[in-house]
Amino acid sequence: MLLLKGKGVSAGIAIGQLAIYNQSLNSIPHYIVANPEEEIQRFQKAQQAALENFQQLYTTAIKEVSEENANIFEVHQMMLEDCDYVEAIESIIRLQKVNAEFAINITAKKFAKIFTDMEDEYMKARASDIHDISNSLLACLDGKKTIQLSFNGPSVLAATDLTPSETMHLAKGKILGFITEHGSANSHSAILARALGIPAVIGVRKLLSKISANMTVVIDGFTGDIYLNPDEKTLANMTQKIETLKYHQTLLKELKGQPNITMSGKEIKLAANISGPQDLAAVLENDADGIGLFRSEFLYLENKKIPTEDEQFTAYKTVIETMAGKQVIIRTLDVGADKNIPCLKLLPEDNPAMGFRGIRVCLMQPEIFKIQLHAILRASAFGNTAIMLPFITSVDEIHAAKIILEEVKTSLRQDNIPFDENIKLGIMIETPAAALISDDLAKEVDFFSIGTNDLTQYTLAIDRQNQNLSSFFNPHHKAIFKLIAQTIESAHKNGILVGICGELGGDPDLIKIFLDLGVDELSVSPPAILPLRKKLRSLE
Ligand code: PEP
Ligand code: MG
Repeated sequence: MLLLKGKGVSAGIAIGQLAIYNQSLNSIPHYIVANPEEEIQRFQKAQQAALENFQQLYTTAIKEVSEENANIFEVHQMMLEDCDYVEAIESIIRLQKVNAEFAINITAKKFAKIFTDMEDEYMKARASDIHDISNSLLACLDGKKTIQLSFNGPSVLAATDLTPSETMHLAKGKILGFITEHGSANSHSAILARALGIPAVIGVRKLLSKISANMTVVIDGFTGDIYLNPDEKTLANMTQKIETLKYHQTLLKELKGQPNITMSGKEIKLAANISGPQDLAAVLENDADGIGLFRSEFLYLENKKIPTEDEQFTAYKTVIETMAGKQVIIRTLDVGADKNIPCLKLLPEDNPAMGFRGIRVCLMQPEIFKIQLHAILRASAFGNTAIMLPFITSVDEIHAAKIILEEVKTSLRQDNIPFDENIKLGIMIETPAAALISDDLAKEVDFFSIGTNDLTQYTLAIDRQNQNLSSFFNPHHKAIFKLIAQTIESAHKNGILVGICGELGGDPDLIKIFLDLGVDELSVSPPAILPLRKKLRSLE
């Protein structure tokens, strides 16, 4: 087995035999013509034929993809009639007395270079559109009406690059997926592949030198991985992944837009856990009721320096606006333990999981905390926002955090910066101490969210990162359920809502227990939402 890496530009997995599409076989003829005007007429006839081809592709694309995606073929028609392009070809034929193929090839190279030299990635990708119209002209000069792509059976196609027209023809030719050496995520081929639902990986260096026709190949359009001659384990894994994807598609059709309600009418919220705006597409696709946990530390993890207030504000605002009125719970910086953030320059510790982490960092470095609270509060003016404090073990920590929060609110009021005056404040219950004193803590805040990952780690005294201890890491331990039950009881006794945002919340086999305990919300990774909804809707 050989693993190649590219860039996944169209999601999905394809398994099949490789077919190689080698476009560079036909070299461009170059000869002197006796009558340049006749040659120009030959070019113009080809131009008309190419225009008709693009019109046909446009009509097909409207039917098979969408009007929006079909527009590229209208643009191609306009490009084919563009004065600069046409004049360039005709004057080369006229002045150099050469054949049309040669003039088209020179003009294509010149125009494509203008686009490739541009800074903007989108404009760079337009070079492939120039190649597309030029190839189409060459095919028409050659008397071929359309691009010929035929394969023995359903195949995964490998090519140097693909133009939009070629991609459109692939759809008809039972192509399972494609891989190319060149291309960009912004190219129309990538856009069409996504619209057609064909998995695609591009930018695989020296691809054609590493493959041969009829090899078995697996392409993963999510990760950009390509497995040539995959071993049995990989094949089994990827087949399983395809089955899961199919199941998910069925769930989407069946359950999108449906309420999270049991057969006897009990309703709970199923929200999503995210680490930044990049997860929003999955959140919307999976129909989340809101964001139950925005792990804001990922904004810091991905940065070499502490993200500025404006950078944070933009990320929070994007999420809040996208969720359009559904609640977004932003957890304040939860650094430390397994999440080391180099830009914060925390000192090494013997036992980081028990050390300087979560709320402790924010209380001891209030400047960092204030910047974040400032950004969250400003963003709260744009939608339904809540703040959640991580790693709480005492009432005093909440008091200290509230003092800082009030200071930030006061400074915003003084500067006349709008924010949600009624913004809710909640805490994570993820230490045994917090669960055991949840009755006291509930009097201080508006909601709880139970972090079962850390709650398990600290209750069972097992490092959640330590693979060697995984057989002891039992999140179903009776002690965990006792702490969860106590937390839910305390929350409800004090009239506040309680959710679960740790991994345990995503287990469909536990939803009945959580429901019986009275949990109000489960917040899970986006793909876990619909399987939970399915289970929930089957319960009495
Ligand atoms: C948890 O501890 O359960 C939790 C949700 O937080 P994290 O996994 O980010 O520590
Ligand atoms: Mg945690």
